[in-house]
Amino acid sequence: MTATLLPEHFDFIQKAKIGCEINGLWPIGQLDRLADLLLDETGELQAEVSFGQEGPLRYVIGKVTAELGLTCQRCMQPMKYPLHIEFKLGLITNEQQAEKLPADFEPLLVDDENMSLPAVLEDEILLAMPLVAMHDYDCSDYLQTQKDQQQQDAEKQQEKENPFSVLKDLLK
Ligand SMILES: [Zn+2]
Repeated sequence: MTATLLPEHFDFIQKAKIGCEINGLWPIGQLDRLADLLLDETGELQAEVSFGQEGPLRYVIGKVTAELGLTCQRCMQPMKYPLHIEFKLGLITNEQQAEKLPADFEPLLVDDENMSLPAVLEDEILLAMPLVAMHDYDCSDYLQTQKDQQQQDAEKQQEKENPFSVLKDLLK
């Protein structure tokens, strides 16, 4: 994990020609379109991005991880959605170039010498947002009994995994 902020605006084509790796974080609250969809906009996204060139292909590939504060659509309580996305974008300067991209690359139209990297990452996150976010456990009142049961089981499991209880067992 790095604690440096991503560079915000720069020339994508130039960076791809040179080739470079960019790692850093960006406050989620500064991504307005994303923050509008969130219950809790605190925290940062973490990004690892490489710019490069291979033959005629200029690309930016990378991955983003973030914990998004959403509302669970089952119990309407807050939840943290762990987001992990990977993307491969081919830089194009006109629409026709999109057809020449390798099949596993999505086109990214570079129409400005001063593109915003956080905005591009935000686009990728918006595409990957769950339509309906729900806790990964049964959180509805209807299933409360099962939930309690699961919790008890989990606690039992935790007891088992607790090194001190193992120690206790050894000392018996
Ligand atoms: Zn829930």
